[in-house]
Amino acid sequence: MSRTAQRHLLTIDDLGVEGVQRILRLTDSFVEVSERRIPKVPVLRGRTVAWLFYEDSTRTRLSFETAAKRLSADSMNFSVGSSAVNKGESLRDTVQTIEAMGVDAIVVRHKSAGAPKQITQWLDASVINAGDGWHAHPTQALLDCYTLRARLGGIDGRRIAIVGDIKHSRVARSNIAAFTALGAEVVLVAPPTLLPPSLVPFDVTVSHSIDEVIGEVDVVYLLRMQLERMHEALVPSLREYTATYGLTAARARRLGPDTVVMHPGPMNRGVEVAADVPQMPNAVVTDQVRNGVAVRMAVLFDLLATEADPVFGDDGEETDA
Ligand code: ASP
Repeated sequence: MSRTAQRHLLTIDDLGVEGVQRILRLTDSFVEVSERRIPKVPVLRGRTVAWLFYEDSTRTRLSFETAAKRLSADSMNFSVGSSAVNKGESLRDTVQTIEAMGVDAIVVRHKSAGAPKQITQWLDASVINAGDGWHAHPTQALLDCYTLRARLGGIDGRRIAIVGDIKHSRVARSNIAAFTALGAEVVLVAPPTLLPPSLVPFDVTVSHSIDEVIGEVDVVYLLRMQLERMHEALVPSLREYTATYGLTAARARRLGPDTVVMHPGPMNRGVEVAADVPQMPNAVVTDQVRNGVAVRMAVLFDLLATEADPVFGDDGEETDA
């Protein structure tokens, strides 16, 4: 395995179909590593990865940190809340300060769409987008593709409903790109107020009725109502939203036995999904989280490993490349 020309991971479109497939193949190896008694390999020893999260995160941040540790990379923790950002330091000065200490990659989450791309202009380090505004969340889409492929055997030709607050969702945008690139048909299910102003860039169909699509799809992908991004009332009330678009217990009973239920988290149980639905056998929410670590190992490896790095043997022992 060698370092590719890819230096940053900003969007699924940048990766392209081949890049997505390369990451999914690499992930198979890192799932195997993650299942070992000692789930650690020395492939990124000596590399340093910094975390720069300007927005809250539980899964993505912990998952990247675990991935870096399992690859033996060093990490530089940066907490925006207790940093000189509070003294007015700019994004540019902040990232250049971090780079001056010596980092190979910066994993960044920011509320502004385009912030990770902007950072690539200022640094030599690789930049990984861990979510920028409404724009993109490529590692979420990769872990969702991996999880679906593992569950369904493939994505090509599958029908996937993405349900809920699509307007504010970077997950929806990245998943539409990844699912359609791998040959799925995507239907967006939402009230008109929760759809993006233009659907022209997306190869999707739209439905305003979850009841019409629920029996017709292989996957129901639920999204959280992102109230932190809403500045006006886009639905009459959350209760009404649940009644019209939520995966209630009654609707869940109408799903086919093999229909997969997904959610990127954090879930608002009782709003977009009934409290018990994520525990159903066809819900893969925990698999998504578990696979997220191996996918992020694959992404870090893809960007940072070089020909000169040791590769890993079956027993986890370092071997010569
Ligand atoms: N965790 C995902 C994100 O960061 C989804 C969400 O917050 O609803 O975009």
